[in-house]
Amino acid sequence: MALALANKLEVKPPVKKQGALPIYSVTPFTMLDFPGQTACIVWFSGCNMRCPYCHNPQIVKGKGRGDVGQVFDFLKKRAGLLDGVVLSGGEASAYPGLPDFIKQVKKLGYAVKLDTNGLRPDIIDDFLRQGFLNYIALDYKAPSHKFKKVTGVDKYNEFTKTLDLLCAQKTVPFEVRTTVHTDLMDEDDVNAIIHDLENRGYQGRHAIQNFTHSDDRPTLGFMRKQERVLNTDALYAPPNFTLEFRNF
Ligand code: SF4
Repeated sequence: MALALANKLEVKPPVKKQGALPIYSVTPFTMLDFPGQTACIVWFSGCNMRCPYCHNPQIVKGKGRGDVGQVFDFLKKRAGLLDGVVLSGGEASAYPGLPDFIKQVKKLGYAVKLDTNGLRPDIIDDFLRQGFLNYIALDYKAPSHKFKKVTGVDKYNEFTKTLDLLCAQKTVPFEVRTTVHTDLMDEDDVNAIIHDLENRGYQGRHAIQNFTHSDDRPTLGFMRKQERVLNTDALYAPPNFTLEFRNF
């Protein structure tokens, strides 16, 4: 998901009682979530993972509150004022109408960034072929032996198909992100991820994000506060890509 928090949204589409409502909300402005671009964030409802540390259970499990027409009303007004649109959630690639949605966004002149957990390599492949994307942030949740524990789904192979697709292309810049709660993953697990990225030829930035706890904001799996923070000094420093530590 994007760096901004969905509970700080300024724009909340009005609730509708009928029809498909895939949109949870829209953040009208961010300079943090799309490198080099001013952007808004569209938060899609629903997700195909169940990460215990997820800070947005209301988005993951809840129904949407707005339709795409409301988003396009907003985007038409901001055309020429914002550079890009970040597609986040939840998991935007789980929304069946996403290809048409992106086509319309591109027609308005926006650059598009997709935040994804990587479970839909078929969609990523299609989007790359069609030139839909200008930037991708891919969550590398956990190594194979921890993938189900951290994500709630046994789909590491789908994830690695997406990772390999992205590593094999040079057209669309992408970054990899890993969130760590030390009840779920330790230094060996993060090193396994770093080594795997190296073996697959990844070059770029690997953001390692320390879980942030909030007493008044329970996570999807009601994770407790970490008893210890990951020791970043114990991590392997890869020669061909950079590690970036966030919230440590
Ligand atoms: S943290 Fe996990 S459950 Fe939450 S939106 Fe991201 S992929 Fe889905």
